Amino acid sequence: MKVGVIGGGQLGRMLALAGTPLGMQFTFLDPAVDACAAVVGEHLLADYDSPTHLEQLAQSVDLVTFEFESVPAETVAFLEQFVPVYPSAHALRIARDRWFEKSMFKELGIPSTEFADVLSQADLESAVAQIGLPAVLKTRTLGYDGKGQKVLREPADVLDAFAYLGNVPCILEGFVAFTGEVSLVAVRARDGQVSCYPLVHNTHNDGILHLSIASHNHPLQTLAEDYASRVLNQLEYVGVLAFEFFEVDGGLKANEIAPRVHNSGHWTIEGAQCSQFENHLRAVAGLPLGSTEAVGHSAMLNFIGSVPPAEQVLAIADCHLHDYHKAAKVGRKVGHATLRSEDAKQLQQKIAELEALLKN
Ligand code: AMP
Repeated sequence: MKVGVIGGGQLGRMLALAGTPLGMQFTFLDPAVDACAAVVGEHLLADYDSPTHLEQLAQSVDLVTFEFESVPAETVAFLEQFVPVYPSAHALRIARDRWFEKSMFKELGIPSTEFADVLSQADLESAVAQIGLPAVLKTRTLGYDGKGQKVLREPADVLDAFAYLGNVPCILEGFVAFTGEVSLVAVRARDGQVSCYPLVHNTHNDGILHLSIASHNHPLQTLAEDYASRVLNQLEYVGVLAFEFFEVDGGLKANEIAPRVHNSGHWTIEGAQCSQFENHLRAVAGLPLGSTEAVGHSAMLNFIGSVPPAEQVLAIADCHLHDYHKAAKVGRKVGHATLRSEDAKQLQQKIAELEALLKN
């Protein structure tokens, strides 16, 4: 089976690494000459909105998927004329726009934070009057790793906030005083079967995911799975979707969804029976899903900017290195490591060992 992937970054690369044993072949559409997935498939070097190249891609593969949600929904809708695309353009349109996404949570009875549409500085001022401060102003689309958002703590922060984010459509969200952040990676097959991985605790540094620890028997697992199923079924979704939540007062508030394989699911490569990458491919290809059960205790630590020396990372027992082979750059995700262990205490020790390497 030939799979076309919009985007050729590390997520595409890990999709191909999971799909190759299943007999799949990959073509990545990516305008970057140094797309890091190019070594594991064919690289179609073109812009995401080039009709000629989109048609060329559609004609050379059996189905298309995408590895990042900033791809224009029009691109996916265009491709859908020629080839099956999973998840659908409709799912992408909702998931990539914070206003549509939060409106869907509301419609489905999924708790979230208060929010308001902001199309101008005047809208922002009335939204602040309604929601109060502190609040978070976010661009409706294209935000990632904490980019495209500004926390408004006092009235002075409001003054230039809309211009600061580029005078583009935004939403204002009430500030959530959360006790923790968790995510649920879920997969829905073509026949509607839904399966979810264990909830993951996430810690961020400067808005970028630093550490994910897979939970065991989390008390909010069933609730999170219920919320995720509502979204997946509503969107008639096919593939992996990640759901990010805030933990508040012993419950969950939805933050956002990502219509793709997700950084907080990388631990599943070594830490689950079937990884999020393989399960995404199984889902989009119409194959039976694999088990989402964890194998022991796992954590994933991101390498931001540079990858520590392999000989030091791999000296930690049951530590698995993923070097994306990307040029070192401040703030850029260039690799990760998965740590596995028999028990939670030993896992914490390994995390401390690995974190110590990052300080060198
Ligand atoms: P996001 O891009 O929406 O995932 O936001 C990035 C990070 O900013 C989140 O992981 C939170 O740590 C923080 N954040 C986002 N929205 C809010 C909010 N409404 N209240 C408090 N913190 C937030």
